[in-house]
Parts: sequence; structure tokens; C-alpha cells
Amino acid sequence: MELYSSHINKLISELAALPGIGEKSAQRLAFYIINLPEDRVKRLSTVLTDAKAHVCYCKECYNLTDSETCPICKDASRDHSTVMVVENPRDLAAYEKTGKYKGVYHVLHGCISPMLGIGPGDIRLKELMQRLEGDEVKEVIIATNSSLEGETTAMYISKLIKPVGVTVTRIASGIPAGGDLENLDEITLLRALEGRTSL
Ligand code: ZN
Repeated sequence: MELYSSHINKLISELAALPGIGEKSAQRLAFYIINLPEDRVKRLSTVLTDAKAHVCYCKECYNLTDSETCPICKDASRDHSTVMVVENPRDLAAYEKTGKYKGVYHVLHGCISPMLGIGPGDIRLKELMQRLEGDEVKEVIIATNSSLEGETTAMYISKLIKPVGVTVTRIASGIPAGGDLENLDEITLLRALEGRTSL
């Protein structure tokens, strides 16, 4: 016998398929949603479909944005000759929150992970190399996480970029091994940026 109605089961299984949400959390969220007033549920579903319909990748840095080019790339007061390479938009947001980084970004949307079968062709590396074709970019700061995958990706990118003649640096390893940038405080992030070393 099914424990819950099939609609609740469907809701639970959709929620449980989201990253970081286990079966128990999915059940809790499902019951929470069922108990919400109808207009709140409608608003939630509209927000979800609207976000999916309108959010796209910035054509320069591949950050998520509502327009063709994101506000950071559009901002002429930013230093467009310095590009910080991050794994995902959350890491970009972490550095943006410090308010001290004045360059622009490049979002890879992942990192190289032989274990998970993610190769260089699966992240936005080709797009990064295309950005370096003009002579605007003078320095690429690799700010991938200090996990094994993040380090592998950093080494791969630096080997790729060196022949192009652009300076490649890596944020300092004050970042705890395996630590995700998004979880670090601003001071640690800034220290890592200031202490960056050439690769
Ligand atoms: Zn952008």
C-alpha cells in the first residue's frame, strides 16, 4: 500500500531529486508546500518557470543573467584586462560580496573530474580561450576550489593558457584543502586573492 497519495509521492520524488535534498527533507518540504495557501504555491511555481524561461548565460563570462550581457561585463569601470576563473556562479557571488575585486570573471560551470567523467570539453573552457584571442586580457586568475578536481582544473587551464602569453595566477592556498569558495569568509577570500602566485 502506498503511504501517501500519488500526487504527494510525485512531489516528494521531484524534490528528492534536487541536489543536497534527501528523502526526509523532501518529505518535509512536500508537506510544507501542501500546507501553504494556494497563492503562495502559485507564486512559487511562477517564480520557478519564470526563472527557467528568462535566466540565460552572459555571452562573455557565462554568469547567469537576465540579459545578453551581465551587469559586471557591461560595467566599463571594471578592469576588463583581469579575468577571474571560477567554477560556478556561487563562487563569483562570494568574490563579488567582498566588493574589492574590480576585474571581470569567467564561469566554467563545473571542473574537470575524471572520476565523474567530466572532461575539459564539458566545462566552458573553449569559451575562455576564445576570450583570450583578442589582446584585451592581460591576467587570468584561476580561482577554482582547492579540491582535487579544482587543482586538476587549475593545472590544466594554466598549461592551456601559457602558450598564449597571458599571465596566469592561482589564488593563494590559504583556502583549506577541499574548501568551497562559497563557504569562505570575505577576509579569507581577499587574502587568497592578494596572495595569488604565478603558475
Ligand atoms: Zn558577464
